[in-house]
Amino acid sequence: MKRLIALVLALALLAGCSAQPSPLTKPDSFLYVEQVENLPEDFILGMDVSSVLAEEASGVVYRDFDGKEQDLFRLLSENGLTHIRVRVWNEPYDENGNGFGGGNNDVEKAAEIGKRAAKYGLKLIVDFHYSDFWADPGKQQAPRAWEDLAIEDKAAALHDFTVQALQTIQKSGTEIDMVSVGNETNNGLAGETGWYAMSKLFSAGSAAVRETCPKAKVALHFANPENSSAYMDYAKQLKVYDVDYDVFATSYYPYWHGTLENLQKTLSRIAEGYDKKTFVMETSYANTPEDTDFSGNTISDESAVTKDYPYTMQGQTNCVRNVIATAAQTTNCLGVCYWEGAWITVGGSSYEENQKLWEQYGSGWASSYAAVYDPEDAGKWYGGSAVDNQCFFGPDGTALESLKVFRLVRFGNEAELKVDDVNNLFLQAEVGQPVALPETVDVIMSDNSAKAVPANWIGAEQLSGAGPGSYVLSTEVEGREVSCTVQLIAPNMLENGSFESGELGPWTVEDLGGAEQLYVEQKQSDSLSGEWHMHFWSAAKNSVEFTMEQTPSELSDGVYRFSVSIMGGDGGETEIYAYAKLDGELVATAPMEITSYGSWDTGVVDGIEYHAGQTLTVGIYVKCAGVGNGAWGKIDDAALNAVG
Ligand code: CA
Repeated sequence: MKRLIALVLALALLAGCSAQPSPLTKPDSFLYVEQVENLPEDFILGMDVSSVLAEEASGVVYRDFDGKEQDLFRLLSENGLTHIRVRVWNEPYDENGNGFGGGNNDVEKAAEIGKRAAKYGLKLIVDFHYSDFWADPGKQQAPRAWEDLAIEDKAAALHDFTVQALQTIQKSGTEIDMVSVGNETNNGLAGETGWYAMSKLFSAGSAAVRETCPKAKVALHFANPENSSAYMDYAKQLKVYDVDYDVFATSYYPYWHGTLENLQKTLSRIAEGYDKKTFVMETSYANTPEDTDFSGNTISDESAVTKDYPYTMQGQTNCVRNVIATAAQTTNCLGVCYWEGAWITVGGSSYEENQKLWEQYGSGWASSYAAVYDPEDAGKWYGGSAVDNQCFFGPDGTALESLKVFRLVRFGNEAELKVDDVNNLFLQAEVGQPVALPETVDVIMSDNSAKAVPANWIGAEQLSGAGPGSYVLSTEVEGREVSCTVQLIAPNMLENGSFESGELGPWTVEDLGGAEQLYVEQKQSDSLSGEWHMHFWSAAKNSVEFTMEQTPSELSDGVYRFSVSIMGGDGGETEIYAYAKLDGELVATAPMEITSYGSWDTGVVDGIEYHAGQTLTVGIYVKCAGVGNGAWGKIDDAALNAVG
């Protein structure tokens, strides 16, 4: 029977017929999905559900689209998923047997998940972290049992652990299709850094896979494909050190990892340059901005990330569809695996209620017990699911419509286009200046296109003659309310407050200590706004002491507020303050401090009463004793605003 099917398939291929028989049917759906053309029949559509056992132990029940209880693995299989990915930690428990959380995923858990998956024909991707807890570009801590091993012994231990783990998992009856030797190993593996040591460990793990499951593909897994040149270097180093592997795999989180075009180009270059398969090992997208388990999510409306798609089921669908389409066009790309698509809330009505379950069953990202291994991160910030809004199941476990995307990509679904999302607007204007309100607002359609719709702002009359403050206007577009928040700010009476002229301009600097560097500098990343700021540095002790001030002209009677910001470090003992002088007399100061890079401190001198004829001077005084390589700092965004 099998042979007959193979013969029919072979004949179909010979005849150039691309419409091979598919076991999947096209579901009814309101989602718009553009078909991914030429998607190979054996294209991997995987999902990591490592947390599933801890979730179920915590009382989570998964349900079909109608809300009827159903096995998660059956739901995934029926909806087009072909593979299940599962992470393996060496020993995610403290000495009393308390789990570190994140699913407490050890070898036994992987075997059980493999068995559950096999029942519905789902193959397994095993993801070894070679750590007792999370490993990623930020941390690659060795398992406690390997901590003191020299590299040769560590490689042997890694080899033996891999063999035993894979044997245990295989015994569960699952088919291991791919094994990831390490997880996001950009900067290290099992406590080792540098390519010499890392390649020893990669090679040991790879050899173990070849011995134990010769049919499985050996994958190496990296993150941050937006750094294309780093990826080319990883591939080159693996070649230099002669590491035996099949698949160069990457994480691709659209929020952080660059464009799809770059992803395709980077992976294709590696595939072609080194004759490797490629794979998108992790991806995900939010279907709602809402958190449902009282433990904050990695992505919300407050996240400062690129929002390529709305945080809706349609947005999640479009994102997954486009990642799949990109992978399908990438050289030698085997497929795409979604990360933790079922890690929903454990269902309690408060943080405390949920935390009891996270602690007991390991269903949160980390438990307090993880402190013995990872005191600085997990030990401090342990909690629930950070991705409950990036799953394919609602808070009660019911499958979301977006789960159908894994079937719909093969067929396409020309559902009628409708408005999927609207973006609220924000604009800033100076008091007294005309405010140009947008004539149209963009709505995001279900195919992710933007459509400009005329706006008829309600509440615009608030703006005429208005003082400083925030004013919210609204308009209705296609049945949805869109807001436009207008922030009116008093004009800045200082010139060149952000140093964007690239010169001091009207600023006067008096160098009282003989600093080695004291000048206007162009560097956007060191500026609070714009590209320029005032820079200082000096290695010699007590040589940083200066004032920088400005005397604005044409002020009218009133009350003023002066503000200026600073960041810096290595100050040692410091005296820093913003000040205001009237007719040369110091009338008010506001103390400031420098702490570390990127921590801006704003000094505010409020309530400066000014009368015509007086001379108002505002500025900043900086004095640092200096430690280490010398005190340094950046000053930016000085403003003098009328407040009454
Ligand atoms: Ca959460």
